[in-house]
Amino acid sequence: MRTWFKMLSKRQIQWLYGTLAAMAVIILIGIIIQPEREEVSAESFYLDNSIADIAPTLGVTGKAFAKELKLDIEVSKKLSLRELGITEEELQHAVEHLLSHEDTMIKYYIFAALVLGALIYLVRLGRPDNSDIRQKKHWYPNLPYLMTLIITVIFCGFAFGKSPNPMESAVKLFKTIAGLYPDPFFKTIAFLFFLLLAVVGSKIICGWACPFGALQELIYFIPVLKKLKKKKIPFWITNTVRGIIFIIMLLILFGLIGSRKGLVIYHYINPFNLFNFDLEENTILIAVAIFLIVSFGFYRSLCQFICPFGFISWIFERLSIFSVRIDHDLCTKCGACIRACPLDSAKAKVEKKKIQADCFSCTRCLNVCLIDAIKYTIAGKHTCKKSNVF
Ligand code: SF4
Ligand code: SF4
Repeated sequence: MRTWFKMLSKRQIQWLYGTLAAMAVIILIGIIIQPEREEVSAESFYLDNSIADIAPTLGVTGKAFAKELKLDIEVSKKLSLRELGITEEELQHAVEHLLSHEDTMIKYYIFAALVLGALIYLVRLGRPDNSDIRQKKHWYPNLPYLMTLIITVIFCGFAFGKSPNPMESAVKLFKTIAGLYPDPFFKTIAFLFFLLLAVVGSKIICGWACPFGALQELIYFIPVLKKLKKKKIPFWITNTVRGIIFIIMLLILFGLIGSRKGLVIYHYINPFNLFNFDLEENTILIAVAIFLIVSFGFYRSLCQFICPFGFISWIFERLSIFSVRIDHDLCTKCGACIRACPLDSAKAKVEKKKIQADCFSCTRCLNVCLIDAIKYTIAGKHTCKKSNVF
């Protein structure tokens, strides 16, 4: 890391400090224009209130609140909760759960700042200007990535709670379409915000700024189970599972299968609850434990097998403005980047596959190529100068 820093050109140092300043400004703006929050708690509501009285204050539709109370979503919204047979405990549980999904607006600014920093590091700073391939071991040191992941877990996770997050933005969009949230405009903008942060650099929001993604990544960095880490499950299997779960989620949510219209199956395994220390439901506790334990030997199991945002952003990944690109005129197919990549992504790029695995912009492949055929660069740009070839 120290050598990398010393090797940076004057221009890159300016980029570094300019980027840090821009990140600070973005977060400062977020703090300044953070809207005042109305203090709402479970104690603000009574059993004499109806669903129609309470739902708007919680920012959900009557259907969503009925579902949260484990009632039929078509139940009368005018009757008091007492008449509907709801107990104090059930009311409190439902309100607390919905409040835990309330967006903390400052997090949007933190996500944007982190993605900006990550992008500049990947495109402009990771590889010192005028260094050649003999110095590649100093390119893209792990420390900036690890520090960003830790900041992500702390600030996009534990400090400000689970909402918003990319996975939730995708789920909320479909819940809004199903009539469970009242404000389609804001939910669509929130989803598009995360999607934009996913395509500005290849899945960069997932790779660098999603709190549960970061937690999995940090655990994966721990140097244990190295043999297991070399084994990868083929992308067609992981993506098929992820796609099938996504389609089943939609079919149940819209009531096309089963009798629980409005139900979101991800709710039972939502690991982002960890950031609110809300692990009361056994299924969530088990899911969090599995995702985290598996991360010691397997890369991002949640992202590969389950996450709906992971699936949707994979569909859009081909539109990425910046990403890992390989110069096929130089590439000898030696497999160095394929071995470094925790997924099938580098392999698909080397083999020019039409359907490619997700790339999380994790940097692992960017300092292993012996002939400088791989770079993180803008779409369409040729990756290398032959003069750099060693
Ligand atoms: S794919 Fe992984 S990193 Fe991306 S939003 Fe989902 S959980 Fe987070
Ligand atoms: S190692 Fe794989 S996932 Fe990481 S940046 Fe390279 S291609 Fe993407």
